[in-house]
Amino acid sequence: MENGDRPSQVAIPKELKVKNRQTVLTSFLRGEPLTAVEISEKTRISRQTVQKSIDHFLGNQLLVPFGKGMSGSLGGKRPELYVLNPDLYFLAIQNREGGFVFSLTNLAGMSLKSGLCPHGDSKSPEDIYRSLAAYAESFFSQQERENLLGVCYSLGGVVDKRTGRIRYNLTYMTMPSEEDLDYQRLIEIFPTARYAIVENDARIAAFASLKEHAELFEDMQAITVFAGVGIAGGFFSDGKMIFGCHSLVGEIGHIVVDPSDAECCKCGNHGCLERLVSIQRIRALLKQDSERYAQSALGGRPIESIEYTDVFEASGAGDALSREVSVYIARWFAAALKSIFVTFDPQIIVFQGYFAFADEYFKAALLEEVRKFLYYPSNHKLELFFDRRSWAEVETVGAVAALSTKILEDIHVFTD
Ligand SMILES: [Zn+2]
Repeated sequence: MENGDRPSQVAIPKELKVKNRQTVLTSFLRGEPLTAVEISEKTRISRQTVQKSIDHFLGNQLLVPFGKGMSGSLGGKRPELYVLNPDLYFLAIQNREGGFVFSLTNLAGMSLKSGLCPHGDSKSPEDIYRSLAAYAESFFSQQERENLLGVCYSLGGVVDKRTGRIRYNLTYMTMPSEEDLDYQRLIEIFPTARYAIVENDARIAAFASLKEHAELFEDMQAITVFAGVGIAGGFFSDGKMIFGCHSLVGEIGHIVVDPSDAECCKCGNHGCLERLVSIQRIRALLKQDSERYAQSALGGRPIESIEYTDVFEASGAGDALSREVSVYIARWFAAALKSIFVTFDPQIIVFQGYFAFADEYFKAALLEEVRKFLYYPSNHKLELFFDRRSWAEVETVGAVAALSTKILEDIHVFTD
């Protein structure tokens, strides 16, 4: 890739200038103080161009000086350090049992403070807007409110960007399902935020994977699978998330893997992946085999208290019944994956949430099923990652990464 290494009297084309500035800002988004020389060495953009980019970001206040760095091996003047402006903030809001969790971070994602806006007796969208606005009033200092650069809501349900509506009942809320939330009304609560995102929680968690595997994702097809109350994820092509016409790309849980299944999913279909591997289905399977269950490693506990992580842990430790369940889950996953192969063909799959804790038998069964699909190259490079960070962490890291993406896509940030 050509970059800024050219005689200074030749003007750098505008697109290249923007690209160089994006690269320089990306280096700072990790949060460390850096010198122009360090960035130049890492990015192979000329030191002079890096310095000009830094000056540009000092001008729009995304960066601030951070004192002097160490001299090079030959001594000489100590170089200037720069860092992301610590007085600019992102706010991540997550819908949880009991309320909306507010997490204030700096632009690098360092957590500064958090709080809970209780759901209380919110019944209608109007109640929710009112309670969020009142809580926001008490959460920020004046300085924080004025310097809030971005806000990101991560919610259950499908966020339709075209209509601005958030479809389906919000998990943990008692709202009647026909009452959708309005994207715009949620954003208006934070009028000083320049960037705003309202997005499905699994997709926000997917951005945490994008941040962690940035170089891998950059020129590959990658998907993330977040298993919580439902199963959904993010589809990335060349580092960009794909949403589709109705924001349905990533609704992996609703891939139909067994149309003859008796249970009807909330989406209206029969045999959706997330119904076949639901925790209720897993418990029902264990109940069917009650004698073996009683003798299994899980047997000392009431079936209703068993979670996926218990099954995977017991399977990994050699419990035969748990292993069968682990393999059962893997096979249905593989069935869904085969549909994904012929529509998206990813090289990377990242599991988040419950299935990040899957054991080796799950992994082996999944890959064995994939190998049965003869159109799939035998020398395939399918890579599986298991992201075991907590949901709260991936959602906050993901919110920061998603908001950072918004900044990097905003042309006004990079032009004079
Ligand atoms: Zn469904």
